[in-house]
Amino acid sequence: MRLKDKVALITGASSGIGAGVAARFAAEGAYVALNFRPGSAPDREAAERAVAGFTTRAVAVEGDVSDRAQVEAMVDRVVRELGRLDVCVCNAGIEVRRDFLDTTDEEWHRVLGVNLFGAFAVSQAAARVMVRQGGGGRLLFMSSVHEDIPFPGYTSYCASKGAVRMLMRNLAMELAPHRITVNNIAPGAIATPINRAVLEDPVAYANAVSEIPLGRFGTPEDVAAVATFLASDEAGYVTGSTYYVDGGLTQQVTLY
Ligand code: NAD
Repeated sequence: MRLKDKVALITGASSGIGAGVAARFAAEGAYVALNFRPGSAPDREAAERAVAGFTTRAVAVEGDVSDRAQVEAMVDRVVRELGRLDVCVCNAGIEVRRDFLDTTDEEWHRVLGVNLFGAFAVSQAAARVMVRQGGGGRLLFMSSVHEDIPFPGYTSYCASKGAVRMLMRNLAMELAPHRITVNNIAPGAIATPINRAVLEDPVAYANAVSEIPLGRFGTPEDVAAVATFLASDEAGYVTGSTYYVDGGLTQQVTLY
């Protein structure tokens, strides 16, 4: 019970890594708010189903992280219903595969809107609550190995994650006086819906696995384990860092 009685908000928690982090946090004793995006019945149902299955108090909270008003309403609701906010995991993210020369302004703004503005708006609203409460807090960003490694065909995604790296490092400095720690988790290839195309194509899957030194895709549970550590009291002296959860992928890429 490493997160006993802490209140945690996790964005994009109806699937994949966010769902895994929410489940682990609840199992560790946290009160969890699972954010899901509006306009998707399956996302709403998945978040509400998860909440119903937890033994600790939990709420499913609707909200588009790329919309300031919805972010403020979501954070207000979490504090109203769960009493406070100790941990915020900015996890919601999207990607668009498009060659740089063909990328449209709409695609660019959509990806940066969720991955970067969403991370900014959610972390800012959460940090304001934590500062008001006193007593510190934990901000985690779900970046990617592509905060560092280029990925042809995904320029908007890589730009967003590279920017989240600097967002995190700056916040670590600015929020340290408030004892709010700020860190990134950089997943490699994790078996979640965002990778559906690769997971469902045996050739692409074999190629992807061949690049991972540990020889397998990661799981949401692999990521949740690191998130639990970073959210816990044990990580009180850790701030401004990126934790790679990538089976060695980053090291492999830098070899060549
Ligand atoms: P996923 O598609 O299952 O999860 C993304 C979640 O974000 C979904 O639940 C989606 O509904 C939600 N979301 C999208 N737009 C939103 C919005 N505007 N407001 C609120 N929620 C929104 O994929 P995942 O792999 O679990 O991705 C989670 C995070 O991990 C993302 O930030 C992604 O970039 C990052 N990541 C994933 C991998 C991987 O291999 N799976 C690797 C590196 C980084």
